[in-house]
Amino acid sequence: MIQLTTAATLTNAITKARTVKPLVRVNRFGSYTVTNKATGATYTVECAKRDGKRFASCTCTAGTRGTACYHVAAAVSAHIQLAAERAALNF
Ligand SMILES: [Zn+2]
Repeated sequence: MIQLTTAATLTNAITKARTVKPLVRVNRFGSYTVTNKATGATYTVECAKRDGKRFASCTCTAGTRGTACYHVAAAVSAHIQLAAERAALNF
């Protein structure tokens, strides 16, 4: 699990995500499938909130070691957007 504190935690991962531009698919709110379109590598990212703290996990090698990978950066971006839409729609 990677604790998400500030955007700085994900700076390198965000930079890589902007370069790789992975495909993010929503499995359900909080669960995303992230695919590197060039290699076909696919990983699952889970986002969760516990005790007011935000966490994410990824099934890739870096992610399972607790490193903030670009899959997490890409999925968190989608998650934040989805959460904002849900809040706006009030459900
Ligand atoms: Zn990953």
